[in-house]
Amino acid sequence: NVRVRFCPSPTGSPHVGFARTALYNWAFARHHGGTFVFRIEDTDKERSTEESYDSMIGAMQWLGMDWDEGPLKGGNHGPYRQSEREDLYRDVLARLAESKYTYDCFCTTDEVTERRKAAGSKVQGYDGFCRELSSEQRGAFEAEGRSSVVRFRMPDGSVSWNDLVRGEITFETEFVPDFALCRANGDPLYTLVNPVDDALMRITHVLRGEDLLSSTPRQIPLHQALVDLGVSEAVPEFGHLPLVMGEGSKKLSKRDPEAHLFMYRDQGFLPEGVLNYLALLGWAIAADRDVFTLEEMVEKFDIADVNPNPARFDLKKAEAINAAHMRMLPLDEITERVLPFLEAAGVMDPKNLADRQLLDQAMPLVGERINKLTEAPPMLGFLFADETSFVRVDEIDDAGRDVVRAAYDALSGLHGWSTGEIEEALRTALVDGLGLKPRHAFGPVRIAISGRKVSPPLFESMELLGRDRSLARLQSALG
Ligand code: GLU
Repeated sequence: NVRVRFCPSPTGSPHVGFARTALYNWAFARHHGGTFVFRIEDTDKERSTEESYDSMIGAMQWLGMDWDEGPLKGGNHGPYRQSEREDLYRDVLARLAESKYTYDCFCTTDEVTERRKAAGSKVQGYDGFCRELSSEQRGAFEAEGRSSVVRFRMPDGSVSWNDLVRGEITFETEFVPDFALCRANGDPLYTLVNPVDDALMRITHVLRGEDLLSSTPRQIPLHQALVDLGVSEAVPEFGHLPLVMGEGSKKLSKRDPEAHLFMYRDQGFLPEGVLNYLALLGWAIAADRDVFTLEEMVEKFDIADVNPNPARFDLKKAEAINAAHMRMLPLDEITERVLPFLEAAGVMDPKNLADRQLLDQAMPLVGERINKLTEAPPMLGFLFADETSFVRVDEIDDAGRDVVRAAYDALSGLHGWSTGEIEEALRTALVDGLGLKPRHAFGPVRIAISGRKVSPPLFESMELLGRDRSLARLQSALG
């Protein structure tokens, strides 16, 4: 029974690497019919914030990655916030100490550095000085009033695992010093709580970013100790996902705006498009195929196919993939999705029936042209604007004004107001009558009507706008 987890630290706004890791875990769980656990790693109280916690949950909800156990949902292995699990950690820590997997260490950092230097050692970190303290030494340290931390006793030899992404990996433990599991005041550290939670939550596969690879040789022996103590049943398997690189060859950084997941939401990307793009940061459904649905990913996802090489981030590609997903949505679904954007931009009121009807009529004109949801308000605004709030973004020159005047004359005498009638009248007056090329004939009229050089189809738009408003706009364009 596969159990994976996604366990962000709520210390900032959710970034792209975060979402990619969540997606791979989610797809792995769904592919295997397993369990996707969502856990919040808020052990670091100074850096964790409630705001970030909410945004982590919001990000998962926006992307539609449902979790089987975790915040808001509960489960048999909760609570799912580390800040609420301290008793469990203290209990495990006591059991580890009792069986001598750990020891108390009284050294200061300066003392360790001094000893390392004196020994000419190239190894960084703790040197094991307190591993076998006699009770006299211990008593002397305590009499000095020294505080102590609890350290894990790394086994001799080496630690190896068969990484699900990278294959066989071995670390010599000589280079992996005994590490602290809690602070002097007894507060459990991340080094303890992350593997302990994986053990207690019965996680079978740990899939996470390559930046965490160096913690694995410490975590595996700790997992082994927990198995030996009967705290858990097995050491999980590990797979380290490729780094995500930004422009050039540096890691995508928090300073890059495109590193932040909510930028995509705010810019009107679809979650479907973002998920598809994230999937490509280290995995492909087929060599010649970039666009696919989440269901297809779940069906095909195999962790062994993940490419260990760094993945390059490419905003242009993300946009193209998003556009492809827009094309896949039925029109009424696009309408639903653009509504909040139209409302936020003040274009229309979704609760107003007349506005809703106009939108339903207009959407067939623009549905196929929208690549991001934020493109809808500037494209549709002119239809909803009344003549006082309507502004022209683009300008009409003198020659254009002559064209608009001719258009006005031709249309003001028109009996009907259908797309076909409008088109015929304008072609007759401007193309045949004035001898203009269609682009020169309709360009100024388009700006007069929509305020922009680029708009939904002109004649259809004029029909929707109605005779009176269309004529008023032509007139107001004349100055
Ligand atoms: N909490 C860690 C982070 O936010 C993840 C640790 C893990 O996946 O093991 O990066």
